[in-house]
This record gives sequence, C-alpha cells and structure tokens, in this order.
Amino acid sequence: MFEKLYQQPADKILALMAQFRADPRDEKVDLGVGVYKDASGNTPVMRAVKEAERRILANQSTKSYVGLAGDPAFSDVMIKLVLGDTITHDRIAAVATPGGTGAIRQALELIKLADPTATIWLSNPTWPNHPSIIKYLDMPMGTYRYFDNDTRGVDFDGMIEDLGAVAAGDVVLLHGCCHNPTGANLTEDQMAQVIAKVNAQSAIPLVDIAYQGFGDGLDEDAQATRAIAAGFENCLIATSCSKNFGIYRERTGILMAIAKDADQAALAQQNMSFLNRQNFSFPPDHGARVVTTILQDAELRLDWEAELEETRNSMLALRQQLVDELKRLTNSDRFDFLAHHRGMFSRLGTTPELVEKIRVDHGIYMVGDSRMNIAGLNEKSVPVLAKAIVEAGV
Ligand code: PMP
Repeated sequence: MFEKLYQQPADKILALMAQFRADPRDEKVDLGVGVYKDASGNTPVMRAVKEAERRILANQSTKSYVGLAGDPAFSDVMIKLVLGDTITHDRIAAVATPGGTGAIRQALELIKLADPTATIWLSNPTWPNHPSIIKYLDMPMGTYRYFDNDTRGVDFDGMIEDLGAVAAGDVVLLHGCCHNPTGANLTEDQMAQVIAKVNAQSAIPLVDIAYQGFGDGLDEDAQATRAIAAGFENCLIATSCSKNFGIYRERTGILMAIAKDADQAALAQQNMSFLNRQNFSFPPDHGARVVTTILQDAELRLDWEAELEETRNSMLALRQQLVDELKRLTNSDRFDFLAHHRGMFSRLGTTPELVEKIRVDHGIYMVGDSRMNIAGLNEKSVPVLAKAIVEAGV
C-alpha cells in the first residue's frame, strides 16, 4: 500500500530550519521559524506558565477525559480575552483545539459541513498553512490583494476591489492582528471599511488571531476581531495561545463560532463537538488548563501580562534599532516601514535571489518571500542584518 504514496510538498519553513541547523557558521542568524526568542536566543517558559504548571501538578487529582469541547472554563476565559464583552455568550459556540492550526482546521471543516461550495478567500500573501489545509480539504479558494510591495504596507484599494468578487456565503479569512507573513496591518478605519464590504457581499469572516499581545497590546490587538465579531450575524474566530503564552508544543487553541442567536449557536456547538470527535476526540488539556489557571488568578495574570509586555516591547525596540541602523547606512528613510509593521514578522519585500544571497554571504536565514522574524534578532545581530540588507542592494 505505501508504494502508492507520493512525496508531499515540503514545508518551506521547516526545511529552512533544517538548513540553518546544518550551517557550521558561528555567527549565523535564524530569522526563519515563527517562534519568539529572547536576547540570548532562548524561547523561555513564561514565569506565570511555570507557576500555573506547578499548581496544576500539585493539585490535579485525575487525568480522566474532559468534554469534547474541552473545559468550559477555558472557553470562558478565552472568549473574555479575545472578545471582551462585545458579544453575549449565548451567541458563541466554542471548542478547544490542538493549537491555532487545529482551530483553523476545525473552522474549515465546519464551513465544509455547512456549505461545501463556499469559497475561502485569503490575503495574498498569507500564512502558507492556510492554502495548504484548504487545498487538502479540497475546498474552493480565492485570494485578495493585500501587500503593496512598493510601500510595504497594505494595498487597501486592491484589497477592497478584489473583495468585490466575493460571492454571497463565501468566507473571507482575515488576520486579527500582526499579519503573518507581512507585518502590515489595516488601520481601524480600513478594517471598518472591510467589514462593510464583506457584509455588502453577504460573506462571512473567519478571523485568525495568533499573536494577541504581540503588536500594540492585549486589548489593542483584539480590537479588529471585536469589531468583526460585532459587525456580523455569523463569524468564526480561530485563536492560538502558542505565542502569547509561549506554550507552542502544548497545542493550545480555540475555535469560536458566533451565531445569529442562541439556537444557532447551540447547533454550531453540537457540530463543532462532533468534528472534534471525528478528528481527535478530546482536545489537549494541559495548555488549556495552564491558560485558564493564569487568566483566573489576578496575580498570575498580572505577571503574565507584564512578561508579555516585555516581550512585545523587546520586539518593538529591535524594529526601531534596525530602522535606525538602516537609516544611518543608507541616509534614507526607505526602511521606515519596518517600524510601522507589527508583530513578530516583517516582509522585507525583496526577491528570493537577494534572500538567498543574504543567506549565503552572511548566514542570515529568512523565509524565501523575505519574511523576517524580528524576534530572531538581538542588539548584536541587528547591525549585521542591516549591513547585509544594504550590501545585497535591497
Ligand atoms: N495562524 C497564524 C497566522 C500563525 O502564524 C500561526 C502560527 N505559526 C498559527 C495560526 C497557529 O499556530 P499554532 O498551531 O502553533 O497554535
């Protein structure tokens, strides 16, 4: 049977990680994989996570199954974290999922159950796993313009124009904050126009929010998602706790579906639990329990927020240092866009050839589309990157 298999497309980012590991140069810099790293290159376990784990270990009396939707307390704290008080809880269905990827997968499966003809519209570019899963599920897919390679900001006119092709019942995937891979985000006013446009097309938004707290702050980063949730009768939100709690390998995420009323929310809830059952039965619990413990405890929560704020500010400081260095070297402000981008990533907006040249000449690894993980830098490597960018002729 296995002889019938064929090679699946390799994940480019994972392939880049392997290439980086094999590079013998001491001064090499990894700006590839989307993992936060501190100044020493470590991805630390957050203090509040350690303490929550200690408490769980001390107090947990059973490892028996939780429900198919996960622990309702996890849903409650996450709904509050992402949506605040925007939507009444009786309109929200929620299931815990293995990471944000699991939430996206379950969202797509739910859409497929409800309407297999719905086209899923993605920003161009987007996180490569979006089209990959959609293709695998054999669902119709479309793209809308998003990144303007001249300004390195959002091509807003292009985006609105392309959304004009969205049909009634289609689904538009929007990044809640910190757009991956570009770092370019819509302003509040632009998001309001997108909401009006998607509504005018009678389409449904699917929000992917994986970096809440990495951009401008916890509430600020949730603003767009809350506006979207408030602006539609139906909406899906796929959330990841991997980055903002630093619990990548624990696979912690949640899918929320906002329905028109409590009856439809209950129907969505039953379908979402069914889909969990078909795909993996019970969602992972440990990370969700850690998150719940932190968000329910005032002291732990404050400490988590403080450490998240340090993380966010360290990335902003690196952005600013890089902009200053590039300004110094080029005598121009043409790299200022890096300071306007938000989140872990910025798309430099250069060619795969120059990305490769920077890798070969300087041992600096970024994704082929010129996505850089800002958190992969530190004070010492920023000038090295700036010099490499300028020398390559970006
Ligand atoms: N969405 C986006 C845009 C992401 O960048 C990521 C992480 N790379 C995810 C979702 C999901 O992450 P995870 O499954 O690790 O929680």
